[in-house]
Amino acid sequence: MMHAWEVARPGPIEQGPLRFVEKPVPSPGPDEILVHVRACGVCRTDLHVSEGDLPVRRPGVTPGHEVVGVVAGTGDAVDGFALGDRVGVAWLRRTDGTCAYCARGAENLCPASEYTGWDADGGYAEYTTVPAAFAYRLPADLDDVAAAPLLCAGIIGYRALLRAGLTPGGRLGLYGFGGSAHLCAQLALAQGATVHVLTRDAASRRLALELGATSARGAYDEPPEPLDSAILFAPVGDLVPVALRALDRGGILAVAGIHLSDVPVLHYERELFYEKELRSVTSNTRRDGRDFLALAARHGVRATTHPYSLSRAQDALRDLKAGRFDGAAVLVNDLNDLPPSA
Ligand SMILES: [Zn+2]
Ligand SMILES: [Zn+2]
Repeated sequence: MMHAWEVARPGPIEQGPLRFVEKPVPSPGPDEILVHVRACGVCRTDLHVSEGDLPVRRPGVTPGHEVVGVVAGTGDAVDGFALGDRVGVAWLRRTDGTCAYCARGAENLCPASEYTGWDADGGYAEYTTVPAAFAYRLPADLDDVAAAPLLCAGIIGYRALLRAGLTPGGRLGLYGFGGSAHLCAQLALAQGATVHVLTRDAASRRLALELGATSARGAYDEPPEPLDSAILFAPVGDLVPVALRALDRGGILAVAGIHLSDVPVLHYERELFYEKELRSVTSNTRRDGRDFLALAARHGVRATTHPYSLSRAQDALRDLKAGRFDGAAVLVNDLNDLPPSA
């Protein structure tokens, strides 16, 4: 048996939609790995799953898709992984590998795709499973807690950076500065960008400046110079026209979130003309994940983390919603005697 969190009845996190239960340790399918969870990052998407912003795909699902753990079992068809190997489990869990999108290298758009902690039980538990083909090897110099937020916040931030078309030495604006943005900022800075952060939260503005951002202002303020690229991390549609107006001619705005409140009516001349582009970001490919993990290791991209006991997952989600920490919360599985890895 193991402990796991389940979304019992999706609703406002303040009302406690999750419950902590005991249930059997899952069995891996033939192509899957059983993972003994050591740490699991807390992502805003987990909040959307818990509150019902995303439709229920698996009733009573266990959230969590930034999982660091060790292989505790393998299905019959798995090779290349041994018991005790450290692995990462991320949001993209399975694709069909056969559709037109998969064939052209856009598996993030696969209509048959499945997601960890939404279609299948994730990492807010002592154990989880993952198809071996979708498990990541993790750089050895990252400890469990530091590695966890890289697996969604980091990878999605990286894909958003690609979608925003930032050119070398370009001027990048980041709207919102939570788990994903603060990793994206470090990578952009390491690649020579000028970074401007626009967020309502004063502590996040301080963190942005500490990490090397050139400016940090309120979410609805103008950046000090026009932007070549911008990424909207805050799930606030009202910021779309604000960010579009901040773009220079030919600039690109990428919306990073999976959920966004309604976008207001756009004013064509002020907000889209001069070949400004508005793009969405949908999940990521495995290649994005591998490329980002390698870049993160090379450039020393590090999450600012706030550890919570696995038994306090609901508190971590409440604190995320209330903006009570900067950087990223990480659940630590302290319910058993597994030694932490270095
Ligand atoms: Zn496909
Ligand atoms: Zn996520």
